[in-house]
Amino acid sequence: MNEYLSGWFERHEAQVRALEHRIWARPETALNEHYACAETAAFLREQGFAPECFSLMGDGGEPNAIVARYGSGRPVIAILGEYDALPGLGQDCVSHKAPLEGPGHGCGHCQIISCAVAAASALKSAMEAEGLGGTLVFMATPAEESLQGKVRMAAEGYFDELDLCFAWHPCDMAPSFDDMVSAASTDVTFEFFGKSAHAAMQPWAGRSALDAAELMSVGVQYLREHITEDCKVHHSYLSAGTAPNVVPEYAAVRYLVRSNDAGSDEILERVTAVAEGAALMTGTTMKRRVKSHCYGSLPNHVLNEFCYRAVGEVEPIAYTEEEYRFAREVYENTTGKAAPGDNEALLPTAAHPPKPIYIAGSSDVGDVSHIVPTLQVRGPGRVKGTPGHHWSVVAASGTSIGEKAAVYAAKLMSQAMYDALIEPGLAERCREEFHRCKAEKGIGPYRKFQEEN
Ligand SMILES: [Zn+2]
Repeated sequence: MNEYLSGWFERHEAQVRALEHRIWARPETALNEHYACAETAAFLREQGFAPECFSLMGDGGEPNAIVARYGSGRPVIAILGEYDALPGLGQDCVSHKAPLEGPGHGCGHCQIISCAVAAASALKSAMEAEGLGGTLVFMATPAEESLQGKVRMAAEGYFDELDLCFAWHPCDMAPSFDDMVSAASTDVTFEFFGKSAHAAMQPWAGRSALDAAELMSVGVQYLREHITEDCKVHHSYLSAGTAPNVVPEYAAVRYLVRSNDAGSDEILERVTAVAEGAALMTGTTMKRRVKSHCYGSLPNHVLNEFCYRAVGEVEPIAYTEEEYRFAREVYENTTGKAAPGDNEALLPTAAHPPKPIYIAGSSDVGDVSHIVPTLQVRGPGRVKGTPGHHWSVVAASGTSIGEKAAVYAAKLMSQAMYDALIEPGLAERCREEFHRCKAEKGIGPYRKFQEEN
């Protein structure tokens, strides 16, 4: 590992771990990341950055987003941090389910932000010490959980200046530099407008918006048989009438429509056609509002392969017996099965070379990956075999398992970014791969998101 990077971590590891824990202990939901934003900005200022804090999609009030730059010239390389928590997932730092009121870090984003701020700070100190050229950009992006933050920042052009972008997400695995494809996702609400009437005395005078919403559900259920396996359509009712003796004049259903990137327009139009059919059948009218759309992730094999070598330069995490015991209990309390005897099967540390993988979930990092060659590393922080968005993730993120993962990932990312910064021609090679991959998948130029009103 570069001596200036490792020196920075020797001096600041305790501060990084403390930051991770403070943000874990004050979880904030999407767009409300004010405390985490202030703590992150304070850390950056101490490290000699001049962070620009601002409110994204907010009322112009308290900031929830940060951009900080260091250096000048090409390449311009960025690291992204997220810090939103999930509503209703409050959990104590113990190995069994112990809910606390309010949100919780059920996706480990407290680790992501600490990793990002540490990686940026360590790299800045190495760039200073070695007099390296190039520009380092740190970005704290709010509202990943609602798949909005980076989408809105992309629409405002925040990623346009970048040559390379780096992101890490904790997971239940050893560091993985896989060529990961994730699903594109559209968050869309269908509203139906009917006519209210007495449900017993004059139902013929009414037109039920709820009938339309229910028929839409039935139609989508039939549609599911005739879409490719990488498409997922799920919904929840936002409004379904009030009293049973009143024909509902209004109903609203929120859908998440996921697919591969090339097919995302088509699947959305097919779901919309079902909604139109439901409105026609019930004599109601329908309005569609696309609230957000995020791209699936576009892998960059050249960048993944290049950065994977950082794994060999950073000491793997050494877990204590106490941490393995905690992991074992979390595993058993989550799955109801006996934990594996092998420690590596609980908290894996052995990395594997990049390989192609598909995940059905979505992240707003996807949009960034369609603008700039982006490295998306997944790695430790959770107990293997436990689900995401779950109390077990909140619990692990609150312990030394989560703190160590953040520090380890920061070391890995700072080393990978350092290597990328000094490697001649890497940005150009990654850009070629970016265009090659888009052409192969039949994906056009990035379209900035526009909300439907
Ligand atoms: Zn996440």
